[in-house]
Amino acid sequence: MDEIKIKIKTEDEIVSEESLSQQPGIENTESRERKPKIVIVSLTSCEGCQFALLDLGVKFVEAMEEVEMVDFRLLEDLEDTGEELDVAFVEGNPMTEANKKTLLELRRRSKILVVIGNCAAMGGIPEIRNYHEQKQTVKHVYKYIQGIETEEVKEVDNFVKVDFTLPGCPITGEEFLCYLPLLLAGQIPNIPDNPVCLECKKNGNRCLLLDKKPCFGPMILGGCNSVCTNSGMGCQGCRGLRPGANVKAMKATLKTMISEEEFENTTEIYGLRDDIEEWEKNHSS
Ligand code: SF4
Ligand code: SF4
Ligand code: SF4
Repeated sequence: MDEIKIKIKTEDEIVSEESLSQQPGIENTESRERKPKIVIVSLTSCEGCQFALLDLGVKFVEAMEEVEMVDFRLLEDLEDTGEELDVAFVEGNPMTEANKKTLLELRRRSKILVVIGNCAAMGGIPEIRNYHEQKQTVKHVYKYIQGIETEEVKEVDNFVKVDFTLPGCPITGEEFLCYLPLLLAGQIPNIPDNPVCLECKKNGNRCLLLDKKPCFGPMILGGCNSVCTNSGMGCQGCRGLRPGANVKAMKATLKTMISEEEFENTTEIYGLRDDIEEWEKNHSS
């Protein structure tokens, strides 16, 4: 029969190991293994931004090996245990009381709160109803049902502090992967203030404006690889105004191609209209 040896550590040995692990630069096993805790949570939305992440396939799975996923409904059905979080990614609009409660709770638990997508950041497609008479909108959508109540759509930052925004409808999966490591390290990334035109020209596209086709690209924040203009569609601004946008000049250019009404209608698609109004208010003098 083989001899089994058991080494019992003395109290001194245990104490000296513990004090060694607490010295700066020396990690204990537990801290070395601790992964940042994240959630990806959807409020009221189409969940398209979350699917943009799943569309990354293996790249997304590999990125998730670096984190502890506490909640992501599209991947698993585990109960969120309510623990503290390093980063909370939030998609969609806080439209219901349950949404608002979830959002406030996520903010309380998270070191960094990131909004993902145009809905959460700018109101998105649901915000179209803010620009029209509520009763007419409800009647238009629910022709045969009465008693439907709706309220004004408000972006996430009306309810909680937002640390970082990943723009787009949907978000760009590659951009998520690009900024994820910084966020996990507790830092807030900075998206370069480049227009969509930069990527559009790099992609070898002929500028649509030359053919009098409307495109909002020059005043919109790049980072989507000019996915619309690559297909011959004008940019409609789902990533929002870039910090250095010259809305006045852009509007004047576009109005040589489209009517005031067409301009307004386009800016309503992705919740750009109120941002343009705010820009004009801030640059009125
Ligand atoms: S931003 Fe677009 S893709 Fe993302 S949730 Fe809203 S509508 Fe869906
Ligand atoms: S097509 Fe649009 S995005 Fe491309 S260069 Fe022209 S204005 Fe810019
Ligand atoms: S080209 Fe414009 S509308 Fe299209 S994805 Fe990029 S920012 Fe959004």
